[in-house]
Amino acid sequence: MTVLGPIPPSALGSTLSHEHVLVDFIGADRISRFRYDADEAHEVVLPHLRRVRDLGCRAFVECTPAYLGRDPRLLERLAMATGLHILTNTGYYGAAKDQYVPRHAHEESADQLADRWVREWSDGIEGTRIRPGFIKTGVDAGPLSTIDRKLIEAAARTHTRTGLTIASHTGDTRAALEQMEVLAREAVRPDAFIWVHAQSDWELLSRVEAARKGVWIEVDNISEKTVPENVERVNALRERGFLNRLLVSHDAGWYRPGEPRGGSFRGFGTVFAAFIPALRRDHWTEQEVHQLLVSNPAEAFTVRGRPAAAELRPKPVAAATGNGENQRRA
Ligand SMILES: [Zn+2]
Repeated sequence: MTVLGPIPPSALGSTLSHEHVLVDFIGADRISRFRYDADEAHEVVLPHLRRVRDLGCRAFVECTPAYLGRDPRLLERLAMATGLHILTNTGYYGAAKDQYVPRHAHEESADQLADRWVREWSDGIEGTRIRPGFIKTGVDAGPLSTIDRKLIEAAARTHTRTGLTIASHTGDTRAALEQMEVLAREAVRPDAFIWVHAQSDWELLSRVEAARKGVWIEVDNISEKTVPENVERVNALRERGFLNRLLVSHDAGWYRPGEPRGGSFRGFGTVFAAFIPALRRDHWTEQEVHQLLVSNPAEAFTVRGRPAAAELRPKPVAAATGNGENQRRA
């Protein structure tokens, strides 16, 4: 689901799975569209998107959640101006000690939060017809706080009701494992979950274990400086047979409200200009590069319910005996 509407997954193309157009770290209680000029933001961001499109990028997953500067109308304009498929999100960001969590999220239940997020999916975001393409949450390092746990429960229930994949900014390995446990309890399959920032607190075995379960391992800090270490990380997973669980991106950008012309901007070119060439030098085939940049994101962001072990649950038995109550329990 792009900001311009649904497309078949096969049309997505080379994808950056985690980037930002605009982020405003002012805090949930002070955030406002009046803090920046959207025309100026558009003008600043557009050349960066055009450049990465010219490098071969076709789809751009914008990971700024609500209360951190999500601006679906700006994304819609940028998608029209560039021809890129741009995805936006629903959900809340509980990392960074909850300063981007709106007050109502503390007061409401996980189901009430899921109701809000599902409404964005069914009705559009903030009075627009623009719908989220995934769920974005964020949690601090484990153990999960009460609010972080609630956000993941709400994300799981939103997934169950919409089929949207959950991408969660994850503080550390322990937080990743705890989120996976929450999803399992909510009967959501691991492949509905993207472990965002899996490179931080890096330790191979837990990533292999998560990938084996089906979790998407996102290496999303790619920059000129980190190309060698990230080549090593993706090679390590590829060698163990988990190329089909990997996503890559820069986590770059972005226009910063409050700074002159949005402050310093990190572009989106390194994956195409340096990282993929480095993989080719390490004898990645075209087919493997295609898997990493095209097939994996298409699969990860396909809107589809991923119920845990549904096929293992006993099917309802036709009621030769027993009453309706038993049937419902079957
Ligand atoms: Zn990010």
